Amino acid sequence: MKAMVLNQLVSLQQDQTPLKLVELPDPVPGENEILVKVSACGVCHTELDEIEGRTPPPHLPVILGHQVVGRVARTGNRASTHRIGDRVGIGWIYSSCGTCRYCRSGDENLCSEFRATGQDADGGYAEYMTVPEDFAFPIPDVFSDVEAAPLLCAGAIGYRSLRLCNLEDGQNLGLTGFGASGHLVLKMAGHRYPNSKVFVFARSPKERAFSMELGAVWAGDTAEESPEKLACIIDTTPVWKPVVEALKNLEPGGRLVINAIRKEEVDQAYLLQLDYPTHLWMEKEIKSVANVARRDIGEFLELAAEIPIKPEVQEFRLEEANQALVELKTQKIRGAKVLRVE
Ligand SMILES: [Zn+2]
Ligand SMILES: [Zn+2]
Repeated sequence: MKAMVLNQLVSLQQDQTPLKLVELPDPVPGENEILVKVSACGVCHTELDEIEGRTPPPHLPVILGHQVVGRVARTGNRASTHRIGDRVGIGWIYSSCGTCRYCRSGDENLCSEFRATGQDADGGYAEYMTVPEDFAFPIPDVFSDVEAAPLLCAGAIGYRSLRLCNLEDGQNLGLTGFGASGHLVLKMAGHRYPNSKVFVFARSPKERAFSMELGAVWAGDTAEESPEKLACIIDTTPVWKPVVEALKNLEPGGRLVINAIRKEEVDQAYLLQLDYPTHLWMEKEIKSVANVARRDIGEFLELAAEIPIKPEVQEFRLEEANQALVELKTQKIRGAKVLRVE
C-alpha cells in the first residue's frame, strides 16, 4: 500500500516535506481487529504537534492521521461487529485497556493504556489501516466520506468539550479560537442549547465574520471583553493569551474548558498577567479536555446527522499531505482539510 510516513521529527519552518511517500506491505488485522481500506483522512493540528515534537509519537516511523473513513476490507478471526464492505470511521482513540475504572465508566479517554490513532498506532495517511473492531464506528448515511472525516476529531472532541461545559439551556457560551472545532461546536450548541447565546473571540476578522454568519450573537478580538459574562468558554487555540483573556469574561462559578492537546510555548510568559481577583477568584475553574471516549464519537456522529452538521472541507490527495499540513500551520484558509485516498 501507499502511505505518507513520518520518519523523523522536524520543524515545519525548516522542512516543508516532513512526510515521505512510501510503499509498504498491507497491514494484517489481528484477531479482534478489522482491516479498513481508507477513502478519506482529515488533517489535524495535532499532526503538527506530532511532527514538530510537542506530542512526539513513541516510535518512528509512524503513519499519522486520526480522522479516518473507509470500508472494512478484512476482519480478524474473532471480529464480528462489522461486515466486509461496511463503512466505518476511526477517531483519535485507537484502543484502551478495557478493564480499569475509567474504561468501565465510559471515560476510557483517561485510561493509562490509552493508545492514539496515528501516534501510538499507524493511522490513516495510507491506503489501509487496522484497528480493534470496538474502536471503529458506523458513519450515518447523510455524510459523504470526505464530510465525515473531519467530524471524527474536531467534531467528537468539540462534543466532549461541550459536554464538559455542563451548560444549561439559556446560559451564555463563549468560544475562543474559531477553527474547525469552533465552528462545529457553535452548530452543536445552537441545536442542543437553543436559548443560549454564543460569543466568539478570534484574532482574524474573517473568522469573526464567519462566526456571526453561523449564529454567534457577538464576535470580538481575543482580548476583548464580552458584553455579557459567560457560564463557560471553550478554548481551541494553541496558545496562552486566549486562556488568560477568557477568564475575565467568566461569570462566578464559570468554567474554562481548554480543548488543546498541547499548548505552544511562544507566549507562555502571558500567563504572568494572570491576576487572581480578575481571572480566578469567585470559583472560576479551568479544565482540560483529554482525548475522546468512544461514546463521544458515537453520540456526536448521531447528533451531527440530526442537525445536520456538514463541515466545509478542502480536499487534497494523499500525496499532497505535506502541502495540507503546511497550509494548516500557516492558517490560510478556513474549513477542514481532508486527504482523499484513491
Ligand atoms: Zn485531531
Ligand atoms: Zn483502561
